[in-house]
Amino acid sequence: PTAELQALDAAHHMHPFTANDELAKKGARVITRASGIYLTDSEGEEILDAMAGLWCVNIGYGRDELADVAARQMRELPYYNSFFMTTHVPAIALANKIAELAPGDLNHVFFAGGGSEANDTNIRMVRTYWANKGKPEKSVIISRKNAYHGSTVGSGSLGGMAPMHAQGGLPIPDIHHISQPNWWAEGGDATPEAFGLACAQELEEAILELGEDRVAAFIAEPVQGAGGVIVAPDTYWPEIQRICDKYEILLIADEVICGFGRTGNWFGSQTVGIQPHIMTIAKGLSSGYAPIGGSIVCDEVAAVIGQDEFNHGYTYSGHPVAAAVALENLRIIEEEDIVGHVQQVAGPYLKEKWEGLMDHPLVGEAKIVGMMASIALTPDKASRAKFASAPGTVGYVCRDRCFGNNLIMRHVGDRMIISPPLILSPADIDEMIRRIRKSLDEAHQDLID
Ligand code: PLP
Repeated sequence: PTAELQALDAAHHMHPFTANDELAKKGARVITRASGIYLTDSEGEEILDAMAGLWCVNIGYGRDELADVAARQMRELPYYNSFFMTTHVPAIALANKIAELAPGDLNHVFFAGGGSEANDTNIRMVRTYWANKGKPEKSVIISRKNAYHGSTVGSGSLGGMAPMHAQGGLPIPDIHHISQPNWWAEGGDATPEAFGLACAQELEEAILELGEDRVAAFIAEPVQGAGGVIVAPDTYWPEIQRICDKYEILLIADEVICGFGRTGNWFGSQTVGIQPHIMTIAKGLSSGYAPIGGSIVCDEVAAVIGQDEFNHGYTYSGHPVAAAVALENLRIIEEEDIVGHVQQVAGPYLKEKWEGLMDHPLVGEAKIVGMMASIALTPDKASRAKFASAPGTVGYVCRDRCFGNNLIMRHVGDRMIISPPLILSPADIDEMIRRIRKSLDEAHQDLID
């Protein structure tokens, strides 16, 4: 029975990003099965998952091919590693496939268990790169406020979320944060274009202030996800690329969310027109069916790192079962042209419906790239006013209404966001938008009362 499961859950299971006291009071929803874009809970309710789990189930739930591949691989070779001059076929095949898909000379893959571990790899990799080039003082990594790059001590330091830094003594030394290009919340009277340019130029100002000879790398998501699906104005990325080129700063694109079709291209870097030296990948790499992530590294960085032993690695780097599952996931994305579906079918249809939400009294801004999208909730569209309540209060109201309407949507402050499975059909999009509108209407009513 659900109540019994909830009590056992609260008694012994500590949930990520959750106040466990609240969990004990309310009880978590117990998810038992999933198929396509729908989850089923222990009460038999069907829930439309507009977040694809945690932005990861790109091909949708319930693909037997991945289960079959996992079972086969477990029987054949359930575990081995690539430390100490050994390797195995799934890791070889997956690394080669990723190198084929990645743009430019991003030809080398260092595997990790997920995105956080991969970003920790990146910290050590860029610092080792500069040390091997005889410039060990180049150790500062610049990131952005409100960014999320993972939860380990290293990746949490790269991230710019104040509540995360407040717990556990983050950030580690030599990490610096500049503004995120969130025009709606922070753009003031500037045009989006002017604001985008100013945010990018903060990178140059930081480099000059910290010292050109001290800055190793800049890391950012092509479209900031957990920070609120913040789509940078068009002026932003060309200027970032120019500054990185000018000062020879390594550019790290965190593609953990944006990668593998989410933005309508294989990688978000292609959507925003940048060529990074390193990409962080995870989530959509296996559509969440197995935990796997990694760093895709360009020829030059890989060559310099490879001059010496890189004292870094995880027991599960390139895990054979996870690698085989990821390879099968990439085969499905390619064979079913899921990236094309996002670019030509689902993305344009969702964009039309999403931007249509602007007619709702609570919605001040609607942003979308491919299949990741956000709306800003406001009491006054013209002035871009914030609600008087603590940030997030209204977002919570809206999120809970979605939950009540069997729709998983997430809130970030007073922004509501989606990142659905990429396989959504136009009919699925209609159903999702119907539930969103109903939830917004109810939230609006709650706020008026
Ligand atoms: N980077 C980004 C952009 C993410 O969104 C996430 C997770 O949400 C991570 C890194 C961390 O990945 P993981 O949770 O697999 O460690």
